[in-house]
Amino acid sequence: MVCSFCQKNECEGYLKWYCSECSRLKRLLNLHGDRVYEILDNVLLRTEDKQNNKIKVEIKKEVKEQEKKLELNLNESCELYENNNNKQLLTELKQRINKKK
Ligand SMILES: [Zn+2]
Repeated sequence: MVCSFCQKNECEGYLKWYCSECSRLKRLLNLHGDRVYEILDNVLLRTEDKQNNKIKVEIKKEVKEQEKKLELNLNESCELYENNNNKQLLTELKQRINKKK
């Protein structure tokens, strides 16, 4: 039976609606939700030469978000140490953060 999504490949198996590639897409969609549509809109609805730039921008954005999260976690850790009166450890942590900047 032909895949009911791409209408091109054979279904994964008996009693399956999708081929292996479309099943993979479905799993990604279930995992990442609206983010998948966002990426498809932002990346694929562009001319090919603009696509590579957009991909780079998207990756940079993702890295920035991760860095921000990391910094927040570090700041929270600092507060935790401060509350525990562990001044020396706090100073070391702050020095490490400043070195990274
Ligand atoms: Zn398919």
